Amino acid sequence: MGESVDIMRQLVKMVARTQQRELDCGEVFAVLDQYTEAIVAGEDVSAEFALVIQHLDLCRDCLEEYEALLSVLQKIH
Ligand SMILES: [Zn+2]
Repeated sequence: MGESVDIMRQLVKMVARTQQRELDCGEVFAVLDQYTEAIVAGEDVSAEFALVIQHLDLCRDCLEEYEALLSVLQKIH
């Protein structure tokens, strides 16, 4: 009895993980200028770019790219 509940919990966790698929660097890079524009414009990016934010948290390369882009855009605006 207790065992089948554990299996159900593991299944639920697996499904949740699959749905919240992480982006790779190429996918982040593809939307990074859009994301940075939205940041500079002061838009709420937390929903639309949740996966990008998550990736920038974990990936130093993309974070540096983002910061470089941000400083360029902030000079223009
Ligand atoms: Zn990355």
